[in-house]
Amino acid sequence: MLLTQKLTYLDHNATTPLKPEVRDVMLRLLEFPGNASAIHKLGREARRRIEEARAQIAGFVNAGPKAVIVFTSGATEANNLVLKGSGCERVLVSAIEHPSVLNALAAREIIPVLSNGVIDVAALDQMLEGNDRATLISVMMVNNETGVIQPLDKVVEIAKRRGALVHTDAVQAAGRLPIDLQKLGVDYLTLSAHKIGGPQGAGCLVLSNCVSVTPQISGGNQEKNMRAGTENLAAIAGFGVAAELAARDMGGYQALAALRDRIEAELKKIAPAIRFFGQESPRVANTTMFALPGAPSETQLIALDMAGICVSNGSACSSGAVRASHVLKAMGASEAEAGSSLRISLGWNSTEKEVDYFIQQWTEMYNRIKSRVSAA
Ligand code: PMP
Repeated sequence: MLLTQKLTYLDHNATTPLKPEVRDVMLRLLEFPGNASAIHKLGREARRRIEEARAQIAGFVNAGPKAVIVFTSGATEANNLVLKGSGCERVLVSAIEHPSVLNALAAREIIPVLSNGVIDVAALDQMLEGNDRATLISVMMVNNETGVIQPLDKVVEIAKRRGALVHTDAVQAAGRLPIDLQKLGVDYLTLSAHKIGGPQGAGCLVLSNCVSVTPQISGGNQEKNMRAGTENLAAIAGFGVAAELAARDMGGYQALAALRDRIEAELKKIAPAIRFFGQESPRVANTTMFALPGAPSETQLIALDMAGICVSNGSACSSGAVRASHVLKAMGASEAEAGSSLRISLGWNSTEKEVDYFIQQWTEMYNRIKSRVSAA
């Protein structure tokens, strides 16, 4: 029996289980020897599969005929590619970005965030007053910890007025919200396969009509000279299929809101002191992040892990470390709140039964530490 069959997996914002259709396509291609740059039949077939995936992803984000999609090893690389390669002198990133945006450049300016988890657009506008330098703004579409949807339309409006380019990390929006690159009017957009039922190790940067990037990896002329290296055929083909499936499954995704709301209502009944982050803001349907001072993240994580439940205390990108979340701190959460946070993220195969089991196990954990919570 697979390990996952015995576990309750509620950590879809960290990574999603591979969809069976994606797995089937990938398994077939893992045995396929063609290099997409080769001239012969097998090379041409590999190229065809990669171009098919490119078209599937272009359709998924309504990229339009002039956009260019550059495949990368994941969203981290795509984010680095645009932040380091846009050629802009000034780069502004929001305080709640993923570390692959926040840490890509030392010399970046930080756009603050309000306590409701939404970036402060008035502050952004002010930061760009009188700006006459080539500028890139990077604001994510949906935050990976809170699920809060960011006001990209306002960001784009400010950027156009102030003459700046816009990049959005749409990793956590993909499959959760419809994405329309042409309507959004952003210049660059990042996606990752493993957040939409695809494999880990594949992602892309979508470039709109008028922009390009300087490659950060030199070598052959793959990906229109913007990312050298033999394309990861199986992963890219899997990414394409995952994108197509995610577009089709969007309705099912919205239904997760009922399960997420049930978790929040039940936990609030059990522990009235609990605080849900960004609850008053527009959020995607699958995510809830909460804090309960007196119930340290480690305690909650370990108790749930022992019961076979997989959840996180924020971003999974700190290599297994239980660290206070930079997102919550940016939202003005106290140390006690940031240190007692937990994120539940549901996904394509989450069930009501799993949610019930989570609530039951969390309640048992809470009853064991109740006295510490009320003293906090
Ligand atoms: N951006 C966001 C918002 C993410 O949630 C993640 C994954 N945690 C990444 C970027 C990095 O993606 P990848 O794992 O494909 O490098």
